[in-house]
Amino acid sequence: MSDAQMPLAHPFDDDKLKEECGIFGVVGVADAANFVALGLHALQHRGQEAGGIVSYAPEHGFNSARRFGYVRDNFTSQKLMETLPGALSIGHVRYSTAGSKGQTQMRDVQPFFGEFSMGGAAIAHNGNITNAEALRRELIDRGSIFQSSSDSECIIHLMARSLQRNIPERMEDALRRVEGAFSVVAMTRTKLIGVRDPLGVRPLVLGRIGDGWALSSETCALDIIGAEYVREIEPGEMVVITAEHGVESVRPFRPRKPRFCIFEHVYFSRPDSIIGSRSVYETRRQIGVELAREAPVDADLVCPVPDSGTPAAIGFAFESGIPYGMGIIRNQYMGRTFIEPTEQIRNMGVRLKLNVNRALIKGKRVILVDDSVVRGTTSRKIKDMILDAGAAEVHFRIASPPTAWPCFYGVDTPQREKLLAATMSETEMRDHLGVDSLRFISLDGLYRAVGEASGRDADCPQYCDACFSGEYPVEPSDMLEKGFQMKAAE
Ligand code: SF4
Repeated sequence: MSDAQMPLAHPFDDDKLKEECGIFGVVGVADAANFVALGLHALQHRGQEAGGIVSYAPEHGFNSARRFGYVRDNFTSQKLMETLPGALSIGHVRYSTAGSKGQTQMRDVQPFFGEFSMGGAAIAHNGNITNAEALRRELIDRGSIFQSSSDSECIIHLMARSLQRNIPERMEDALRRVEGAFSVVAMTRTKLIGVRDPLGVRPLVLGRIGDGWALSSETCALDIIGAEYVREIEPGEMVVITAEHGVESVRPFRPRKPRFCIFEHVYFSRPDSIIGSRSVYETRRQIGVELAREAPVDADLVCPVPDSGTPAAIGFAFESGIPYGMGIIRNQYMGRTFIEPTEQIRNMGVRLKLNVNRALIKGKRVILVDDSVVRGTTSRKIKDMILDAGAAEVHFRIASPPTAWPCFYGVDTPQREKLLAATMSETEMRDHLGVDSLRFISLDGLYRAVGEASGRDADCPQYCDACFSGEYPVEPSDMLEKGFQMKAAE
């Protein structure tokens, strides 16, 4: 297996929640697959293990390519891209989602394809289907033959069983059976289709490129292809787009109050993306402002844990008046150097990726701003590095509330017992990390930072915040069957 084909491991990045997929589609533009490859490249932060592209051209039919590894290492080859002709194309980047977690196999790499009596269709899914195991059992009992271990394949089989006469209607039928979080980009021979689940948990946006259209998980991927951001696909909306007739919108689901993933604001989305007309960068900066108001501390220096803690650290420094500095420097070129590290290199851990700026840190009382604490392993190592460099004090300020519950909606989270905040109070976590102080932004503070002036509506939260609150907007039925204990009603 060549380097470019090898599944990528992230041995030093296992202490973050990981978004599991990015999706992108284009219609009405020549060589659409090239635009999809660029879009996927901009969405690479949402999944690095594998990617796939499907295209359609009337004279060549459907074509597809799936590869392990980064988009830039695969979908930049002219030879490969020439096999994906046509003005209609969709693509997917993946971290391992439901299915073979941590060990993606080629059969799990999307887009998935199905041949129906009225023609073929390809689909790419971001999110997680919470009743996938029950659906899979039912479908297999009725004769479906699954090709992958992915929850997303259920959608294709449900479409195959639908009696509707066209593909968008079959997709509506299928998605009405599905519970959980889904943003879907799909294509037929003539149509680009985008759908968001009724709660709108995962993002999906619409863009205009020349005479064509694009669908993307995030606006940053529209920017890279020079597309103009038009709007978000609404929660519960399906758009069916053709080059000739433009965008048609339908509402296949019973309307519900939206519950967009609040963690997209904190960490998953790129800071140069726009969510709900708000800049992600500005929201993160505002989180730092709120954090400085809620949890002030006397100190000499505010440092981000790069890169995701940077906007919040800038906001914290601004609000507190404490100088901002790059006390930790990230090695940008770590990525592919040690794909299979030796034990000796593995033990060097976080030092391979982050280094301390000793000249800045020495003798100072340092506030470290990070986006989240998951297992706490990386936070401890960073604290050690800062103290080794001669810092007088270390104070952690965290730009999200304590992550005490797993996510079942398309984000890779450790089991509940492995989450530091599930087993320890804030004081216990402070002692465990060995820092002088530790504070997390409150849930209300986070809601204020994302634009909800009065904070979180306790009776009817405006976002999904289940990994902080334990209040799941969609019952994770497969997990309950496996013995997962929901939070007891208060
Ligand atoms: S549980 Fe957390 S990470 Fe998952 S969708 Fe809800 S807010 Fe986002």
